Amino acid sequence: MSYSRRDFLRLSSMLALATAVPTRHLFARETRLTPDNFTLLRRNVGIYSNRGGTIGWLVNQDGCVVVDSQFADTAADCLQGLEQLIASEVDGSSIAAGRQPAHSAQITDIMVDVLLNTHHHGDHTGGNGVFRPQTERIVAHENVPDLQRMQSQMRGGDSDNAYADTTFASEWSTQIGDETITAQHYGPAHTGGDAVIHFEQADIIHMGDLVFNGVYPFIDEGGGANIANWIVLLETVATKYTDETHYIFGHGQPSKGIIGSKEDVLNMRDYLSALLEHVQQSMQAGQSREEALSITTLAGFEDYVSFGPRLSLAANLDVAWNELEP
Ligand SMILES: [Zn+2]
Repeated sequence: MSYSRRDFLRLSSMLALATAVPTRHLFARETRLTPDNFTLLRRNVGIYSNRGGTIGWLVNQDGCVVVDSQFADTAADCLQGLEQLIASEVDGSSIAAGRQPAHSAQITDIMVDVLLNTHHHGDHTGGNGVFRPQTERIVAHENVPDLQRMQSQMRGGDSDNAYADTTFASEWSTQIGDETITAQHYGPAHTGGDAVIHFEQADIIHMGDLVFNGVYPFIDEGGGANIANWIVLLETVATKYTDETHYIFGHGQPSKGIIGSKEDVLNMRDYLSALLEHVQQSMQAGQSREEALSITTLAGFEDYVSFGPRLSLAANLDVAWNELEP
C-alpha cells in the first residue's frame, strides 16, 4: 500500500502502564491496557473485548489486521480505538528517542489492511459494514458469504451487512511487516465455514467460536456444524502448536476468560467427545431422545455454564442426537 504504514506506531511506545489482566493466567507481564476495551497480548497482537465475539487485532509499523467485527456499535468503538493507537504515533507525541516524527499528511482513510471473519455469525460479522469503508480487504472461508446471506434472510434482511471480498477454501496467508497471518479451514465444526487464524511470529491463535471457554457452545446445525469433525479439529490444532501458543476464544465464562492455552482447547474437545459418547450410549441402551436429553450435567464438565437456551446442555445433546441418528 502506498500510504505511510512505516510511520505507524511502535505500539509498545504508547501503551499505558501494565495492569492486571481479568483472566486466570498467561500474559500478566506482557499485557498492558490501551484504549478502553483493548488489551495487548504480545508482539503487537491483542484483543478488543466488548459485546459479542472477541475481536483480535495486530497493529505494527507496517499495518493493521483485525479478526472479527462484533456489532455495528462496538465495531465503531473498536475502530476509534485503533485510530487512537495510530494517531498518537503520527502526532509524534509518543515517538521514542531517536525515531523520526511521522507525517500525518501521509495517512489515508484506509486504516485496516485486512479484516478476517472467523465465521458468519452476527456477533462476529455484524460490524463488517462499519469497517468496510476503512478496510482494504475482508477475508473469510468461501462458505461464509452464503451462510451470512442465509442468516440475514432468516432475520428479515440486513442492508448494513458487508461480505468478504476475498475467500479461501483451505488456507490463506498474508505478511504485514514482521508478522505472518494465516487462516486455515479444517472442515465443518461450529459452523460450515470456520477459520482458525494464526499470528505466526506472535504465536497467537484466534479460534473464533471453536472454543467457548467453559460455556456450553452454540452448535449451528443449520449452518453446517459437525461435532465429530469439531473434535478432530481441536485435537489437530492443539497438537500442531506448542505449550507456548496462546489462544483467543470467541466467548468464555467470566472465571475462565477469553484467552487461554492448549489445555482449554483440549477441554472443549473432551466436552464434545463426552457429549457424543453420552448420546451414543443412550441410543445403545434403547433410550428415547427425551431420556438422553434429561441429564443436567455431563460428568467431568459440571463447571460449564449456559449463556441461553441455544447454548445449553439440552440444546447440545439435541444436536448430537441428530448427528448420530442413523
Ligand atoms: Zn458463532
